[in-house]
Amino acid sequence: MPWKLNKTGRDSLIVLCALLSIWICAIILPKAGGTPPRETLSRPEPRPVLILDAGHGGLDGGASAADGEPESRYNLAIARRVRDLASFLGVATAMTRDSETLEYPPELTSVAACKRWDTRRRVAQIDSFENAVLLSIHQNYYPGTGPSGPQVLYASGESSRRLGEQTQALLTQYLAPDNRRVAEPVSGDVYIMNHIRCPAILVECGFLSNPGEAERLGREAYQIRLAMVLADSFLQFTEGINA
Ligand SMILES: [Zn+2]
Repeated sequence: MPWKLNKTGRDSLIVLCALLSIWICAIILPKAGGTPPRETLSRPEPRPVLILDAGHGGLDGGASAADGEPESRYNLAIARRVRDLASFLGVATAMTRDSETLEYPPELTSVAACKRWDTRRRVAQIDSFENAVLLSIHQNYYPGTGPSGPQVLYASGESSRRLGEQTQALLTQYLAPDNRRVAEPVSGDVYIMNHIRCPAILVECGFLSNPGEAERLGREAYQIRLAMVLADSFLQFTEGINA
């Protein structure tokens, strides 16, 4: 005997099929392709890579402290501390150098040519990252022992200016409360800062020409405090990007 439904049964089956088709359209199809789930659309961008550029190095020692210690060594020590701390906090990092010695192409025969090659190498490395923030570490020098305190210089662009002003404020607040320096645009003759694409600041951590400050800059405890402020400024800045 053929299977038959009465009218009430047919109506129930129609309602059931309609509900089933609505459920398939609403739940299954979006997962199979087409419009992505809402949480995918609102997920923040990944945090930028923090690139640490320890200024000078190789044939270029930069400025010198009174005891002859070159600026390049201070820069590398502080850059490594920022790198280590930021990595510990889960930030992706990169270094433009991680050694006091640099290997130059053998055909380069002058110090000037080697320095030029190195600055272009660093720009190419920095620009190879799609999403990055550059923190270039240097030490200041003045012909006279008086001046002291950190000074932040920023690259062109609103993001660099914002990061520069914020970093200067944090350095003053935590390390040099009497410092009256303000963040300023970097001059046009600093090649790397004027040729990279990402937000960038150059931090002059202090004056090697000031014996007291040079001694402080060489101390492990002070370098760690510097690194904490610089890593914190990066985290605050990138939270602003992702907000
Ligand atoms: Zn320098």
